[in-house]
Amino acid sequence: MARYTGPSCRICRREGQKLYLKGDRCYSDKCTLNKRQTAPGQHGARRTKISGYGTQLREKQKVKKYYGLLEGQFKSIYDQAEKMKGIAGENLLQLLELRLDNVVYRLGFANSRKEARQLVVHGHFTLNGHKADIPSMTLSVGDVITLKEKSKSSEKFKQLAEAAKTAPGWLEVNFEKMEGKLTALPVRNDIDLPVEEHLIVELYSR
Ligand code: SF4
Repeated sequence: MARYTGPSCRICRREGQKLYLKGDRCYSDKCTLNKRQTAPGQHGARRTKISGYGTQLREKQKVKKYYGLLEGQFKSIYDQAEKMKGIAGENLLQLLELRLDNVVYRLGFANSRKEARQLVVHGHFTLNGHKADIPSMTLSVGDVITLKEKSKSSEKFKQLAEAAKTAPGWLEVNFEKMEGKLTALPVRNDIDLPVEEHLIVELYSR
C-alpha cells in the first residue's frame, strides 16, 4: 500500500505543530520545529487566510499523520466511530489509540508509532499468547501484549527496557517481562493530542 516516505519533520512543519513522529529527537533541541516553523515549500513563509473547510481539513490531516494512517484507513475508522454510542470525535480518538501499533508505542516498546508498526509487522509481539503482526488490530480491555522470548535478547529492546518510559494510566507495563496490559479504555483526557476532533466530524458531515 502506498505510504508517505518523505521527511517526517516536513509533516510537522505543514501542520505547524509537533506530531512526535521521530521518537527521542522530537523531545530534544534537535527538533526541526525549534529551528524552522514555516510550512514547507517555496511559499511556506507566506501567511494565507484559511477557510472554515481548510481548518477542518488541517485538523483531520493532523490526526491522520499523527497516527501514521492513509486516508482510506482513517475514514474507515471514522465510519466505525460514527456508528458507536457516544461522541463520534471521541470515539474516533479512542479507536485510534486502541490500535496495536499505537499501544506498543504507548507502552514504550518502540520509540515512535512508525517504529512500532514495523516491529509489529516483523512479528516481535504476541497478543494474549498468540501471533499478532497486524498493526491495525483493535485491542480490548484485558488484552496482554508480550515481547517474544527470542526478541528479548535484541539490543534494541534491552535499551527500551532500560529507558522504561511511563505508560498512560489505561495501560500497565512490566519492563522486566516486557509485557503490557490494557486495563481500561482510553478516554478523551488520556489522549494528549491537542486536536479539536469536532472539526473532523464536521468535515466528514459536509
Ligand atoms: Fe516533528 Fe520535531 Fe519530531 Fe521532526 S523532530 S518529527 S519536527 S516533533
